[in-house]
Amino acid sequence: MKLFDTHAHINDNRFDNDRAEMLQACFDAGIEYIMIPGVDRQTVESGVALAETDDRLYAAVGTHPHEAKDFTDDDYEYFKELALHNDKVRAIGEIGLDYYYDFSDRPTQKKVFIRQLELAREVDLPIIIHDRDAHGDIMDILRNEGKDNWGIFHCYSGSWEMAKEAIKMGFYISFAGPVVFPKSTNLKEVAKQVPLDRILIETDSPYLTPPPYRGRRNDPSKTQFVAEEIAALKGMDADEFAAIAYENGKRVFGIK
Ligand SMILES: [Zn+2]
Repeated sequence: MKLFDTHAHINDNRFDNDRAEMLQACFDAGIEYIMIPGVDRQTVESGVALAETDDRLYAAVGTHPHEAKDFTDDDYEYFKELALHNDKVRAIGEIGLDYYYDFSDRPTQKKVFIRQLELAREVDLPIIIHDRDAHGDIMDILRNEGKDNWGIFHCYSGSWEMAKEAIKMGFYISFAGPVVFPKSTNLKEVAKQVPLDRILIETDSPYLTPPPYRGRRNDPSKTQFVAEEIAALKGMDADEFAAIAYENGKRVFGIK
């Protein structure tokens, strides 16, 4: 099975002891590409550096809503430099709003999200959106300040209604481990409906490990379980579905 894990934090320190072996096992298992999102300046730096070591790795630059309180103009300029001049950088992310943890206050999260929408337009790259319990404000901001932005809803958790509007606005809908959890009946229904040309798959490693490995560290090789689940929901052959999601990943990140 040919797979593109469109969201994996493989620069996370939980991989420090075995990163090379872990990646080799992923490549052996059919992973062809991995996108490494940034969450702050430090992880942008380590993600880009890691992407530079292998043709199959790409990176995104951005500040996660958790870290929004620490975002500076200097970070903006740093991300912009990388986005314009480093060929491994193919998206702005992950950016967005997280009202579940509220690690940064909401006005600051919104301000930093809007600022990075501007950055994405300036450098002409797609965005990777993190949206946790903030569907209303995310959509409002995209409708107003983000009319000319496009990209990906990572680890999608909204309704089909919202997905439809996001797709119309130019977004791809990306599914992670939660779509495999037996209890995720609404999410499975959404995955069934998202058109094949707008669907992406990811692991969000090292988080969100799908069954049958729940509770353990996640890694990109588990993209397979997400592919198999969605293929089953759509009544498709798993390899055929994985190949389509793989091509979508290459298209959204401009990989030739
Ligand atoms: Zn993430």
